[in-house]
Amino acid sequence: MTALPAGTARRRMGGAMVTRITNAERNARFGQFGSVTLVTVDTPWGVRTVANATVARVLRQACEEAADTCSWRPQRIDSYNPRLIRGSSAPSMHGWALAWDVFATPPTMPPPGGVWKPTATFAADFAGCFQRRGFFWGRNFSRQDWPHLEWPGNPPGDGGPDPSDDILEVEVIGPGYNDQAAVRRWQRRLGQWLDKPFKPGGPYGDCDGDFGPKTTKAVKDAQRRLGIRRTGVLDANTMTEITYEILRQRASERR
Ligand SMILES: [Zn+2]
Repeated sequence: MTALPAGTARRRMGGAMVTRITNAERNARFGQFGSVTLVTVDTPWGVRTVANATVARVLRQACEEAADTCSWRPQRIDSYNPRLIRGSSAPSMHGWALAWDVFATPPTMPPPGGVWKPTATFAADFAGCFQRRGFFWGRNFSRQDWPHLEWPGNPPGDGGPDPSDDILEVEVIGPGYNDQAAVRRWQRRLGQWLDKPFKPGGPYGDCDGDFGPKTTKAVKDAQRRLGIRRTGVLDANTMTEITYEILRQRASERR
């Protein structure tokens, strides 16, 4: 391993010393893999993280499924951090915002009391939501890294996913939204939270994946109950609030 460039900072992270490098240093040392476009990802748990724009959509989908199906709840998700892999001279995928350290708490710690611990991680069913979509879980590294998930493809610009496919602004689910599975998931969630399931003959109609006037009404009802702006569409804020409420409900039911 060659000497690190001058100015390279060392910093304590999670109890271990890691070598932190700047983008310029990274590029000088490892070559230019392509520019890193970071986007903010608001997860269903109300936790904000960042992601390389090329994988933000698939990351959000995995988070949605994990929030729907798993009881563990992230308190914090760290991502972008240009540095070397701990104990190695190889660059970490954190340097491209293609890796995430997820610090989650089990359902026995309901929000907001769940306390983040450096050792906190998540269960296999949680990891499965990411693995099914192609993410790699750091538990399976020879040096096990439990909180770590990464996109195992090449960094963008080096045979990785095409950024133009997947650039993500804040996604809004509203009338005409064409991902029926996502709409159905939200209809199920809205109905559950409002105690009025989407079903034929019900006030909001069938859980059919079609965002029509009755779904708009359900969203507005939910927004009124949450005390937030009644936009009638599922914007990031509304999705986060509803999911948080559902998780809180579930946590209190367990006590
Ligand atoms: Zn990591």
